[in-house]
Amino acid sequence: MYRENAWKAYDETALAKLEQTAKNYRHFLDNGKTERECAAYTIAAAKEQGYQDLKDIIKAGKRLQPGDKVYVDCMGKAVMLFYIGKNSMEKGINIVGSHIDSPRIDIKQNPFYEDSGFAYADTHYYGGIKKYQWVARALALHGVVVKKDGSVITLAIGEKDDDPVVGISDLLIHLSRDQMGKKASEVIGGEDLDIMLCGKPLAGEEKEPVKAALLKILKEQYNVEEEDLVSAEIEAVPAGPARDYGLDRSMILGYGHDDRVCAYASLEALFGLEEVPEYTCCCLMADKEEIGSVGATGMRAMYFENAMAELLNLTEESYSDLMLRHALANSRMLSCDVSAGFDPLFAGAFEKKNAAILGNGVCFNKFTGSGGKSGSNDANAEYISKLRKIMDDHQIAWQTAELGRVDVGGGGTIAYVCALYGMEVIDSGVAVLSMHAPLEVINKADLYEAVKAYAAFMKDAK
Ligand code: MN
Ligand code: MN
Repeated sequence: MYRENAWKAYDETALAKLEQTAKNYRHFLDNGKTERECAAYTIAAAKEQGYQDLKDIIKAGKRLQPGDKVYVDCMGKAVMLFYIGKNSMEKGINIVGSHIDSPRIDIKQNPFYEDSGFAYADTHYYGGIKKYQWVARALALHGVVVKKDGSVITLAIGEKDDDPVVGISDLLIHLSRDQMGKKASEVIGGEDLDIMLCGKPLAGEEKEPVKAALLKILKEQYNVEEEDLVSAEIEAVPAGPARDYGLDRSMILGYGHDDRVCAYASLEALFGLEEVPEYTCCCLMADKEEIGSVGATGMRAMYFENAMAELLNLTEESYSDLMLRHALANSRMLSCDVSAGFDPLFAGAFEKKNAAILGNGVCFNKFTGSGGKSGSNDANAEYISKLRKIMDDHQIAWQTAELGRVDVGGGGTIAYVCALYGMEVIDSGVAVLSMHAPLEVINKADLYEAVKAYAAFMKDAK
């Protein structure tokens, strides 16, 4: 089966649209370096499109009609947007679900210490990372500090041109004979990912003067006390904006393509729907995928099911639990998450004819998981048949892929969680190179095709 490179089919109009999508996506990435920032960006954009807070609708005792648009904010870290369609939700809805958390380095609750003239923050990394990739590079600090009185201080330090950046040091090559002989997983230890924050003592301070200087800066510039870190979520992420990548500008280099590229594509697709859809459409952006979809904002929590119950209650004459079961089981979902792009420099990790090729369009992964399909969703052939037709009807460049060669590794997505309801689910996303590295690479054509694919799915899936 031969798949054409998507770029070959574009005329001037398509290329202009593709570049506009890429530009808007870079803006989303640059303003969404954490799940909280992505959620806030999404809600602000949704409000501009006429989306209302589901809580306000319930409070006002209003009903929902086809054409109405609502959003659900889950603790500011996960978001769901619903565009109410013409059919009863009991017949199922069309869901494009992604995740907005990305691998990073989190500051601990009691983080600060001083050693040899430096003040540091202790950290615990989040998600699957090659720890050695995160040293000797500029990092920015993003997050929130919640004061004891409940007031929230929002931080984003290291993104503006004149902002300072922070980072983690590495050992000089000259003294690395032992380090270079270690296994890559042991080159940098988990407890060694400490972030250097200050390097100058506070005048007149005898005990821990550099840490004292750090605390003074935090107090004076950000109104943050050391104790406040207990109720804070600060994430160290690669500093700086996403960039066009390649001399031909065909790709984008940036932090957090996994999975903000699919989140963005699903958002643009939803906002681009011109007519009230046949079936209710949902753009779902989950948190905590990178650590197993756990926690109150992870996909395994109840927020999606709860929102479906509320929406049925607001759209149907009477509500029943059975109706909710029907709505969930009859739904169709694209679990929108990135695919492992084929990398010629690491060809041995892939089986090429079943690998995602950058530039060949949106990917469908029947299964992910690891050896023996363990832990995978394994979508139904009947469902894939319907999707094939939708993709071809809309002239979308698409390909099938699996996660590398059999038995070389593995991974999962949110697909299996939604599949528990008995709905049809398949993984579908954009191919990424250097996945989970501080800077990942995608091809603009794949982003563009993903937007088209998700829109076609929301319009036509039934
Ligand atoms: Mn992912
Ligand atoms: Mn991931």
